[in-house]
Amino acid sequence: MRGSRIVIAGIFILEATALPAQAASPLNPPLPPARPAGIDPPKAQGKYHAEDQASEPAREPGKALPKEAAPAPEPQEVVTPSVSSACSGFLTSGQVEAKRAPTPPPRPGCGIDEPVTLSAIIRPDGRKISVAASGVMRCALAKEFATWAVGDFSAILETGGRKIDTIVTGSSYQCRPRNRVAGAKLSEHGKGNALDIRGVKFSGGAHALVGDKASPIPEALFTSACKTFATVLGPGSDGYHEDHMHIDLAARRPGSHYCRWRMP
Ligand SMILES: [Zn+2]
Repeated sequence: MRGSRIVIAGIFILEATALPAQAASPLNPPLPPARPAGIDPPKAQGKYHAEDQASEPAREPGKALPKEAAPAPEPQEVVTPSVSSACSGFLTSGQVEAKRAPTPPPRPGCGIDEPVTLSAIIRPDGRKISVAASGVMRCALAKEFATWAVGDFSAILETGGRKIDTIVTGSSYQCRPRNRVAGAKLSEHGKGNALDIRGVKFSGGAHALVGDKASPIPEALFTSACKTFATVLGPGSDGYHEDHMHIDLAARRPGSHYCRWRMP
């Protein structure tokens, strides 16, 4: 601001010295001086700048901007819904590190019952298995997944003395059509009812990943998943699951499962 004031003061002096010559003739009335380009107001820089301002989040005067400012044009009320006693019991069971999560912003067709985040699963022997970046999912899915993780999932992967350190996951809740294909039916991800699993990291640094030719996920894991979840998709299913296993709890006839994968 100080710089602007100095520039404007300088212009006033120039204007004052020019006035007598302009006022000498009634045919040449004094005109307002043209605003030098250098002091144009910011809005003159066009639409792009205006959008930048519109997307800037409100903040208290004198308070520094956060490092990553959320692009929220309007503040939205954050609601962390209560959950059923069954879900609450799961969250406080001591068998997981999980907590209730805020309801995601409403989007047409999407929604999630009892949103939770799951960051770790505690095995019966007390060893912790981290769940990396699972995002928000339905409590029912988190519960089913955690049960599977300490059961068959661990039994199949923890062979030869290997211990799972982290389960690496991908999308969970995400409001989008199936396989991100425009016009397709809403994905179970849009209900927080699906989870993508990339693989695991073992203590000591080794890993097993879906689609990794050197360290693949064993096919037995897909077979086990198909007994537990309504849908299981993997490599060779439809071209959209070459590097992860999709599991969900889609509503199907009792005992019905839709499972597609083909190991290379
Ligand atoms: Zn998926």
